[in-house]
Amino acid sequence: MAFKIDITTLRQIYEKLKECYEVISPVYDNGVIQYRENPSFDAIPFGKTQIEYAGTYFVSDTEKNYISYVRPSNTLKNFLRPPQEVLYKVYKKDEKIYFESTHVKRPMAFFDVRKCDLKALSILDDVFINKNNYPDDYYKALRENIFIVAVNCSEVSNVCFCSSMNVDFNNDYMADIVLTELKDGFLLEVKTEKGKRLLEGLVLQEAKEDDIKEKNQVLTQTYTKIKKSINKENLKEDLYKKIDHPYWENIGIRCFGCSSCTQVCPTCFCFDIVERNSLDGSYSERVRVYDSCFNPTFATVHKFNLRDKISFRYRHWLLHKMAYWQDQFGDVGCVGCGRCITWCPAKIDIEVETNNVRDIL
Ligand code: SF4
Ligand code: SF4
Repeated sequence: MAFKIDITTLRQIYEKLKECYEVISPVYDNGVIQYRENPSFDAIPFGKTQIEYAGTYFVSDTEKNYISYVRPSNTLKNFLRPPQEVLYKVYKKDEKIYFESTHVKRPMAFFDVRKCDLKALSILDDVFINKNNYPDDYYKALRENIFIVAVNCSEVSNVCFCSSMNVDFNNDYMADIVLTELKDGFLLEVKTEKGKRLLEGLVLQEAKEDDIKEKNQVLTQTYTKIKKSINKENLKEDLYKKIDHPYWENIGIRCFGCSSCTQVCPTCFCFDIVERNSLDGSYSERVRVYDSCFNPTFATVHKFNLRDKISFRYRHWLLHKMAYWQDQFGDVGCVGCGRCITWCPAKIDIEVETNNVRDIL
């Protein structure tokens, strides 16, 4: 089921989403386009574009399309696995101790999710639910209550390499509705019953064959604009062969070990558990917080640090994405969104480094 809509109808769809969900969409604020809770359709950064290189990011205006920006700087992970998440609370009352579980059910609609982030979401689903013997109830509670409006990219950034990381432009993953910007409007494709229900009451004009053709052209053109790539043939085997190569030290000298790359990555999920106690001992909460394999203490076991050099940490991170993940889940753990490249203060580029390691004889 597909329709051709204009910007006014798109606004109406946004308003309908707000009736049932907390809507999260890209917003331009403080020089950055990022996902935020956004009650205003007008705050979506239509007519803006990002310029991204390794260690470089800025936003400028463009007259190309409404949706000329690419994926936001943060990810769905920030909402489905928040940086700080209270798992349960313990408190004393009338000489008794009470435990209170804190599963949050928060219906959220993500407006404008790109294919790389949909693939990343399917990876997180595998990690926390589908391929986990002990599914994560906290993630599940949030995940079960979401609505997804996907957008097919018509522009790419200089750091994108999703097409070589098994991100399928023709797969709509778990989107409820999918938008593609055309020359004179938007193609709106409905993918689920939930999507159909959302559109009830709107007067919509069915899409024509030419509109579908134009969408396919957009997908092909976008695909050809992507310049970066990693050849995945024998990638895992090649990386394992070079696990002791001195080149890792070359990266270790440049890397600050700051963990910025893991914070922005849509598929990095490592966490720590901390206790926050009141000083009088009457209250305590157990909190899950983001951790990173770049943290010096991450691999410390009984005072022995298994990865006591930054080069070991970087190697572990890259190998986890490109090789260990293949052993565990049969796919790479990177979706080629390029965020880690843009937000690395040392301008280290995972696509360049993976190719460099592969090219070393
Ligand atoms: S690769 Fe870049 S972002 Fe990641 S830890 Fe090293 S310096 Fe920080
Ligand atoms: S490793 Fe980098 S390019 Fe790959 S998914 Fe994570 S942030 Fe995106």
